Amino acid sequence: MKYEAVIGLEVHVELSTKTKAFCGCTTEYGGKPNSHVCPVCLGLPGALPRINLEVVNKALKTGLALNCSINRFNRFDRKNYFYPDAPKNYQITQNDYPICYDGFIEIDGADGTRKKVGIERIHMEEDAGKQLHSSKGTLVDFNRSGVPLIEIVSKPDLRTPEEASQYLTKLRSILLSLGVSDVKMEEGSLRCDANISLREVGATAFGVKAEVKNMNSFKSLEKALRYEFLRQEEALEKGEKLSVETRRWDEAQEKTILMRSKEMANDYRYFPEGDLVSLSISEEWIEGIRSTIQELPHEKEERFVRDYGIPPYDAMVLTLTEDMANYFDETVKICGDGKAASNWLMGDISRLMNEAGTWVKELKFSPAQLAGLLALIEKGTISTAIAKTVLTHMFAEGKDPQVIVEEHGLVQNNDEDFIREAVNQVLDSAPHVVEDYRNGKTKIMGFVVGQTMKATKGKANPGIINKLVQEELERRK
Ligand SMILES: [Zn+2]
Repeated sequence: MKYEAVIGLEVHVELSTKTKAFCGCTTEYGGKPNSHVCPVCLGLPGALPRINLEVVNKALKTGLALNCSINRFNRFDRKNYFYPDAPKNYQITQNDYPICYDGFIEIDGADGTRKKVGIERIHMEEDAGKQLHSSKGTLVDFNRSGVPLIEIVSKPDLRTPEEASQYLTKLRSILLSLGVSDVKMEEGSLRCDANISLREVGATAFGVKAEVKNMNSFKSLEKALRYEFLRQEEALEKGEKLSVETRRWDEAQEKTILMRSKEMANDYRYFPEGDLVSLSISEEWIEGIRSTIQELPHEKEERFVRDYGIPPYDAMVLTLTEDMANYFDETVKICGDGKAASNWLMGDISRLMNEAGTWVKELKFSPAQLAGLLALIEKGTISTAIAKTVLTHMFAEGKDPQVIVEEHGLVQNNDEDFIREAVNQVLDSAPHVVEDYRNGKTKIMGFVVGQTMKATKGKANPGIINKLVQEELERRK
């Protein structure tokens, strides 16, 4: 590869507060157009904004979880632009003093090593209204106007579309776990723009960047960046001069389309928002927020591998949702066997949930009951095969595994005499098996084990069956 990509992401996150950033209107999604509005978010003359503290708290929480420093002095600025979706003709945002700066997210880099992707800044701002186009003309719905956002700006530390997607995935899972946003890319509560430029491998200077907008899924982010890489590479190879431009990802055509070049760029003429007081964020305030941050998904994932000895892949799957991660965690805390708990949760239990279309939250048995099932296997009371039957009952009825075992008479039979007799019955009824075994076809043992298991209705200890099948076959050889 002659070129490498230099990618940075700007992510807009809609905060899940009850009310808007600077007024008391609801942030509820949808609603009749212009029904969630008041003089403040309609930008009527004389209306004065007031900061919603919940916005500051959620921005702080995000910054702390992303290893950021906090700007103790916080001020809002006006970003001036004239457009129908902005009733005040400016947006309240933070330009000079973003609330958080200089953080990072760790990802697995393209070269296989752990890598820190820097976070340049996080600032608070308000959303704009929404234009509704029809054949009769364009109408504006201001329900979204004034809904609180944070913008999380990464440093240009990403090198491949896959790294960008991984960064965004991790960011999304952290935001979800913090409860600061519902982060639905399809509904626009998580929006991502990307800056991408190319440079020759080994070069340190940045190339000419393009900003790509309108990617509304992880897939389209990767596709758009791949497309941009090829487009810029082709231009550079042809000796063309690239210019700074903003491009839009067209999902249907699977290409980026020029929106505007730098010459047409806006000058926003930022200046301090005089209608809002500046904020001074104290140490106590920060520590108060810090104390509400629980263990994050990636921290859980690392702990599961480190303390419970499960493979990184299992830890990744188990921490995809908080419910599953907590269920696993509680089970292992009781039974002490990470690998067994992980196998059952990722295997049979996930299969049963998929078939029934239910979630971990809806499981009728508790982590303690699952740990009880694992203990019955461990003690040899039931075989793994029987445990699957017991689990099916637990899944349907939510009873204790011990109770199910007793009710259905499922206790494992460890009686060697009984099992030996069953093995011999199988061998007597299938003389060709012994013949095959004599001729070196040892695979036939599996058949005998299966038949014996069947004859004992799955209750015989499989370890003992294996041992006795071998003994009896050797004896008859
Ligand atoms: Zn309002």
